[in-house]
Amino acid sequence: MRAPPRVRFAPSPTGALHVGSIRTALFNWLLARSGAGAFILRIEDTDQGRHVEGSEVQILESLRWLGLEWDEGPEVGGPHAPYVQSLRVETYRGVAEELVASGAAYWCTCTAERLAQMRAAQRAAHQPSRYDRRCLGRPEEVARERAGGTPAVLRQRIPEGRTEWVDAIRGPVAFDNAELDDQVLLKSDGFPTYHLANVVDDHLMEITDVVRADEWIPSTPKHLALYAALGWAPPRFAHVPVVLSEDRQKLSKRRGARSVLEYRDLGYLPVALVNAMALLGWSSPDGEEVLAPDQIVARFSLDRVQPSPAVFDEQRLDKLNGLHIRMLPLTRLAELLAPWLPAASDEQRLSLAPLLQERITRLSDATTLAAPLLGEVAWDETVEFPPRKVDAATAADLLDACAAAVEAGGLEDITALREQLTAMLEQRGLKARDGFRVLYVAVLGAPAGVPVFDAMRFLGAEATLPRLRRARAHLPS
Ligand code: GLU
Repeated sequence: MRAPPRVRFAPSPTGALHVGSIRTALFNWLLARSGAGAFILRIEDTDQGRHVEGSEVQILESLRWLGLEWDEGPEVGGPHAPYVQSLRVETYRGVAEELVASGAAYWCTCTAERLAQMRAAQRAAHQPSRYDRRCLGRPEEVARERAGGTPAVLRQRIPEGRTEWVDAIRGPVAFDNAELDDQVLLKSDGFPTYHLANVVDDHLMEITDVVRADEWIPSTPKHLALYAALGWAPPRFAHVPVVLSEDRQKLSKRRGARSVLEYRDLGYLPVALVNAMALLGWSSPDGEEVLAPDQIVARFSLDRVQPSPAVFDEQRLDKLNGLHIRMLPLTRLAELLAPWLPAASDEQRLSLAPLLQERITRLSDATTLAAPLLGEVAWDETVEFPPRKVDAATAADLLDACAAAVEAGGLEDITALREQLTAMLEQRGLKARDGFRVLYVAVLGAPAGVPVFDAMRFLGAEATLPRLRRARAHLPS
């Protein structure tokens, strides 16, 4: 039997997490949870130039809101702490020394100008842009320059040959090493690049499966060369397909992709977002679409992840969000509605929850739908009144009958009240649905909304009667 997986999500704090990047976190989390393994969070912040203030906090908040709790990582700790790369720089330098000693890495003092000239010449000759190994051939000189204070970077010496691996999602992948650049491992300020820090940490943190975005595929042969040079067993790799927006462009911050926390603030449920993201490239073996996180965990495996790009469709998210809202226990829905109905008491929210549950797509929809029940409704001259299909005389009789019944305690039994008024409308050859629009406009200010008899009961006779009478006054007598 395979040992439980140890997987990691390794974001760089370069901005808020959007659906494309958090989907990678989700697949890692699912793999860990479905195999009783560990989900590790590691902050890859060695590129100080791209650091965006506050993004770590947002990353942790996004993961927590989604319920993707990590077993090791920032704020949680663990046997391989610290889990923030800028705090591990000495570790990477130590490994860099080993690579120099074994000849798998070499120092390079080429200046930025020289590298720019080299690249320009390569471009002009239609050659791929790649370090020409000038410094590899002059180690003594480079050593003297370094001793004299010339800034130097450490480069990986890519070995000859081919690199192959079997990707858990892509299948066999092969690279000719001649295509690979002798990339920088340590920058001149002594900070590691992504490649060195990532490989060192994945090894030291005993990562068994690297599940990451497929944009990293070209880096994987370089990483495998580092594992080989260090005599370390590499992890398995699974490169997840890119997430595209509906216009089939890569989802990215620059293209207006929303961050996870924006979805929260728009009134989406974390479980719906998890559900929608899981379906980006993965599908349930039995084809079910509406799944709670624990159901996804129970069904998840990487071999059901497609290698082709997945399209993130907000309409599908909306649909799933509505369905997950319908599945909530009313007490839970009432709690979740609190930020959207700030004026409502706990008790009011509890009575509103069943009226809203079937009618909202996002929690935020509750604000507009419940507004006529939580505050005054101004008479809106632009709303057609009486509504289509209802003549003024019938509307007047309906409002009078309704007001009389409400005054006589009719809200005690709204089923009976509805039946009484339905019978009256039908006698006049009108469908209840059409006739009741009169009551909707009267009570809620619009021809549709939450069920109007429930609305009247919620408001009580005292608040309902003036609305019925006001509407009556807007009819010709
Ligand atoms: N820090 C990298 C990123 O931001 C991690 C890539 C990887 O998972 O290896 O995407």
